[in-house]
Amino acid sequence: MTKTYQLFIDGKWLNSKSAETFYRINPANPKEILGKFQQGTKDDIDKAVDAAEDAFGKWSSIPPPKRGEILFKIVELLRVNKERLARLMTKEMGKILLETRGDVQEAIDTFEYFAGEGRRLFGHTTTSELRDKFAMTIRRPVGVFGIITPWNFPIAIPAWKLAPALICGNTVVWKPSSDTPLCAIELMKILTKAGISDGVVNLVTGPGNTAGMHLVKHKKVRGISFTGNRDTGKQIVKEAGIKKVGLELGSKNAMIIMDDANLKLALDGVIWGAFGTTGQRCTATSRVIIHETIRKRFEKTLVERVKKLRLGSGLNPRTDVGPLVNKAAREKSARYTKIGMEEGGKLICGGKIPKLNGFFFQPTVFTDVAIDMKIAKEEIFGPVVSLIPVKNLNEAIKAANSVEYGLSSSIYTNDIRTAFEAIEKIEAGITYVNAPTIGAEVHLPFGGVKSSGQTREAGWAGVEEFSEEKTVYIDYSNKLQRAQIDTK
Ligand code: NDP
Repeated sequence: MTKTYQLFIDGKWLNSKSAETFYRINPANPKEILGKFQQGTKDDIDKAVDAAEDAFGKWSSIPPPKRGEILFKIVELLRVNKERLARLMTKEMGKILLETRGDVQEAIDTFEYFAGEGRRLFGHTTTSELRDKFAMTIRRPVGVFGIITPWNFPIAIPAWKLAPALICGNTVVWKPSSDTPLCAIELMKILTKAGISDGVVNLVTGPGNTAGMHLVKHKKVRGISFTGNRDTGKQIVKEAGIKKVGLELGSKNAMIIMDDANLKLALDGVIWGAFGTTGQRCTATSRVIIHETIRKRFEKTLVERVKKLRLGSGLNPRTDVGPLVNKAAREKSARYTKIGMEEGGKLICGGKIPKLNGFFFQPTVFTDVAIDMKIAKEEIFGPVVSLIPVKNLNEAIKAANSVEYGLSSSIYTNDIRTAFEAIEKIEAGITYVNAPTIGAEVHLPFGGVKSSGQTREAGWAGVEEFSEEKTVYIDYSNKLQRAQIDTK
């Protein structure tokens, strides 16, 4: 019998007012139904926002180190439940266990980092241009925050948003991806077990374009933190009104391999960067910009390695690459493979839907790709990588910057000048040297430029995203002192 899961509003598990539900299946075995979930409505969002608004006064007045103690409890509970959550995540969205364990670990690290932030939440103190006057900034919570998350990091990305939101004193309404409602429910259970009080975090599953958009537009919501597709992000910016909006959007990440690079290292980097999470990471390596003198040699070893990658259920320890998240994602990889061939890209590996139960697609490599081809410009979000040959560093950087996105990037070289030139000139929020485009650490800011979004989250940037900086002047001169006028 399929289990039915509920919404979590004001400390209670409830059915949606819609009385409608949707199913989630295992993408490695689509006949396996994981559960029935509530189709949350605008009314459910209203109720959740009201609960978050009511809870705000009490939660925001708790001293941040005390809020931190609850976050430390979340860390403990995540640790105890790590293996169980990782297995459940592999079943729900497909990536292999090694990676789902990493996803839960990222949430553990994030809650731990922000729990400690309860004893910092630094503002600035500075000088005043006037005598007997003190100037500083303090951090204040924003209010009710709407958090909208995708499926590819179904526990880590919510943690990136929930942990800083909570430590800064905000209350939250969370709308998770309809592809990973079960991970969201399990994380919500952990939050409640750790002692998050009623109304502080409210979870509403349901359709993004109705429930999600209602949250975005809601007048009582003061901030939105969104991770997802570029086009959804565009809509959110248009509809949010005057709110604090954080956006982490799409990408087309490039790895540059120079002729002096350690090719074995670069090869390991491409395999992990392009095919980890079946190419469904926002930081996935989807373009390899390679010096033409080493291209042939590299292509040969790359194809040999890619052909050896084993597809299958992520629960099997022998599997290297799991399924795509759903049928539409698999169709997208197949569609772009066809487009790539029509555009004149040379398919040297993969490109087919294998005869396997589940939404699998063969790890696919194109070479002879030009920067104006669609497969070099548009986000595919699947296991498809394009090799773009170049003659020198200038051409490589030009190619890297030729797309509308700018999230992550990387360069393999042993020349320090080349590395620093790339760091300076590549238009991206992140540049790795001698490492693939994936592998962000939680205590550093994360985010992109151009159409990848203009904001940052995680690390100290997470505090900035989820708090307002208030400026405070204290004049103890006992007379009226006018800035810019009485400055002698
Ligand atoms: P979507 O934009 O389709 O969905 C993300 C979330 O937004 C889901 O919860 C979805 O709900 C919701 N949503 C959808 N439409 C609306 C709407 N009109 N208003 C409000 N909310 C809405 O992205 P995907 O889930 O497909 O995620 C993949 C994308 O996310 C890729 O483009 C990837 O690059 C990007 N991404 C970016 C990251 C970054 O940090 N830059 C990190 C990870 C992913 P529902 O599921 O119900 O539709």
